[in-house]
Amino acid sequence: MSSIAHFVNNAAFAGTSTRTQPVFNPATGSAEKQVALASVEDVNTAVAAAKAAWPAWSNTPALRRARILDRFKMILWERAGQLAEVIVSEHGKTYDDALGEVTRGLEVVEFATAAPTLMKGEFSENVGSGVDSHNIRQALGVVAGITPFNFPAMVPMWMFPVALATGNTFVLKPSERDPSASLLMAEWLKEAGLPDGVFNVVQGDKEAVDTLLHHSDVKAISFVGSTPIAQYIYTTGTANGKRVQALGGAKNHMVIMPDADMDMAANAIMGAAYGSAGERCMAISVAVPVGEKTADALVEALVPKIQALKVGPGMDKSSEMGPLVTEAHLNKVRGYIDAGEAAGATVVVDGRTFTPSNQGYENGFFIGGTLLDHVTEDMTCYREEIFGPVLSVVRKNSYQEAIDLIHGHEYANGTAIFTRDGDVARSFSNEIEVGMVGINVPIPVPMAFHSFGGWKASIFGDHAMHGMEGVRFYTRIKTTTTRWPTGMRSDASFVMPTLG
Ligand code: NAD
Repeated sequence: MSSIAHFVNNAAFAGTSTRTQPVFNPATGSAEKQVALASVEDVNTAVAAAKAAWPAWSNTPALRRARILDRFKMILWERAGQLAEVIVSEHGKTYDDALGEVTRGLEVVEFATAAPTLMKGEFSENVGSGVDSHNIRQALGVVAGITPFNFPAMVPMWMFPVALATGNTFVLKPSERDPSASLLMAEWLKEAGLPDGVFNVVQGDKEAVDTLLHHSDVKAISFVGSTPIAQYIYTTGTANGKRVQALGGAKNHMVIMPDADMDMAANAIMGAAYGSAGERCMAISVAVPVGEKTADALVEALVPKIQALKVGPGMDKSSEMGPLVTEAHLNKVRGYIDAGEAAGATVVVDGRTFTPSNQGYENGFFIGGTLLDHVTEDMTCYREEIFGPVLSVVRKNSYQEAIDLIHGHEYANGTAIFTRDGDVARSFSNEIEVGMVGINVPIPVPMAFHSFGGWKASIFGDHAMHGMEGVRFYTRIKTTTTRWPTGMRSDASFVMPTLG
């Protein structure tokens, strides 16, 4: 069984902890590796390395920092397949989906290579007689990223490219369920020329996270994961004086209006609900058809498509959907279907009994695509995030009822509406209280040069990730007001300066 550990000062670091956790291949169900779980001392070592590297890195011209990231980007382009294979082996998603994840992460690196422009300040001449004023953006220092299992490459890349480009040094604590992608990225950053200590990885669990949250040398924390942990990270991190952005869970609704193109809507739902086995924070998990006729037509269109879904190992090119990440998660997802059925939902397509036909994969954490109809607001399968390939249909009679349903949910990450009516689409985009909105687009994930983040219980903190929001999060503004001796036209003054 191979061991996965940490990366500090541009070198593999075994650490001192003896605690480990198995890492499974979700397609076979076997534990093929084990990951070290960092001790307090291990995290302190990584933070100390990042702290020592910070003065030189933050004083490195932004253009030079950008060039290193540009080389990293080229390595990513060339070796995306290698990173995708590592993701498939620990996460379970299909190879093409993993390649897509790497590309979306790479686009943030691409964005961050504009660091000299992104860091540009403002200058005002003659704010008072002979007085000029300018402001600049400066890095915060050592910042940390704590990431979830579902995008082991993309979500870290929502964070560290912008943090590094703007002059911070970084400690990444990836998910302990799929830790290897982080080490590959660390090796490639080193190869691209990143100096020692600028990017470090500590593997671990709550002990590592808590050490980062309480460490006085960590100035900011970026977190992505489930809502209870996001809330804990935000509360604890801010109580310790840190800047925190913590993105949480989701329950994303897709409204299908009676005038929608039903083929387009059904195909869109298939990818959005069942892609990556529903383990996406932007997955559509609730379909809200407006009117009984729309609902019946939608269910009729979906059933054969769900039954025809090709579920199998991620490295099998014909698979459209892979297994779930762990057996515990598989049991949790099955439990939500059981609870929905017990509460009165109709199980139209049942994925609980699915086993793959591929030989050697009988013990993988597979489940088939599932469709629940006649789901109501009080059911746990509606209220809670399932994070699996389970689509709930909640039937509503009007546009307004659909809006009220979405507004009644605690999560507000993403949503979509399918309609041909521009007026309805515009109203939806304008009034819906959700952070990311799609009009005939099922998974409206913003591009790297825009920012990613939901509302309500899907985010804690004031800044979304990447784009200009990322730059604002990882920098603070300093404003300098300047007067030269020739501007000194009077003696000392003891009244409030007005610069006039
Ligand atoms: P998780 O909350 O279990 O874990 C996220 C991170 O927190 C991991 O690094 C983990 O080690 C750490 N962690 C877990 N328990 C902890 C504890 N008690 N104390 C301190 N740290 C702890 O999330 P997950 O299961 O890895 O990922 C799935 C979740 O992430 C889903 O809820 C999904 O919606 C969410 N997610 C949200 C977004 C978004 O942008 N809003 C994106 C991706 C995933």
